[in-house]
Amino acid sequence: MKQLKRGDIIGIFGGGQLGRMLAQAARGLGFKTHIYDPYPDTPAGRVSDTATAAAYEDLAAIRRFAQTCDVVTYEFENIPAASVAAASKLTPVFPSAKALATSHDRLTEKTFLAREAQAPTVGFGAVESMADLNKALDEFGAPAVLKTRRFGYDGKGQVKLSAVRDGKACFARLGGTDLILEAFAPFVREFSIIAARGQDGDIACYPLTENVHVDHRLHTSRAPASDSQLVETRAHDITHHILEALDYVGVMGVEFFELSGGDIVVNEIAPRVHNSGHWTQDAGCTDQFEQHIRAIAGLPLGSTLPTHKVEMTNLIGKDIKSAAKLARAAGTFVHDYDKKDIRPGRKMGHVNRVLGEE
Ligand code: AMP
Repeated sequence: MKQLKRGDIIGIFGGGQLGRMLAQAARGLGFKTHIYDPYPDTPAGRVSDTATAAAYEDLAAIRRFAQTCDVVTYEFENIPAASVAAASKLTPVFPSAKALATSHDRLTEKTFLAREAQAPTVGFGAVESMADLNKALDEFGAPAVLKTRRFGYDGKGQVKLSAVRDGKACFARLGGTDLILEAFAPFVREFSIIAARGQDGDIACYPLTENVHVDHRLHTSRAPASDSQLVETRAHDITHHILEALDYVGVMGVEFFELSGGDIVVNEIAPRVHNSGHWTQDAGCTDQFEQHIRAIAGLPLGSTLPTHKVEMTNLIGKDIKSAAKLARAAGTFVHDYDKKDIRPGRKMGHVNRVLGEE
């Protein structure tokens, strides 16, 4: 167990909005931060004590960075495994290399979930050839979802197969290798659980968060969804198993599908703070960013019980221009990521609206 002292330095791979909000939370707890990102002048770098601009593959720069840090964490999961391994030789890295390697690849992740964590998932199969795809389609039928194993996010790198005959075209469209076929989940709702595990093994889960996606991208999260006690208890249970199976330290986002009849399956896990947990910043409990810093710094976890309901809406592209107007309403809190270029589809900020007492 490594407990940080005031003034110790937390290194963060990734200079985006998640890194920024982690750095702000770290400061609030009296720590210093050092951001590592390929670009200079990032949203996180601008609120951090130090920033390094170097490639994620630059092992010499990674070693120099790690040497300055008392602990290292990351804001996104596509950091090369070799870079994390190099950093972990010099300083503790949380969440662990195993958590990162598991979530790098959708096939490794689903296999881990189903076998090691005994979590319910949709049926899935590895696809390296048309023969594999036909075999998986025989097993699961259509509709189904064909996905690239790596670098997929916000609906990128995936296609829905409405009919078995679409298989060949979809296979070619995704490059025909390193794919996974998933049975289609006829969900009635998507939700997530944000949870944390401390260095001492203590676990704290936030209440169930309902998520609405638009164009495969998270649009709105609402929490707590208090009508869902049974589902929440089961989802918390599954999340406990996942965190323990990975000997996890830090905050994790676990995304679920709820099927009709109340059955639930895990869609994916994110070994980091999660967009669907941003509501915690204005809910009267410890927010997910402070919770992550507490976990990796060896401090006790904070309360995950909100005092009121909150709805979070992402401000995408030009939406950010309405931030000042939105902020005029009582109980409305704007979080601007300080990104210079407004581009369509780019997450520029989010707004939390307090909906009422819990
Ligand atoms: P993902 O990148 O896996 O999170 O997928 C993005 C979105 O696509 C999810 O939030 C769902 O809305 C949808 N999706 C992904 N996988 C499936 C599936 N197996 N069945 C039904 N919908 C899915």
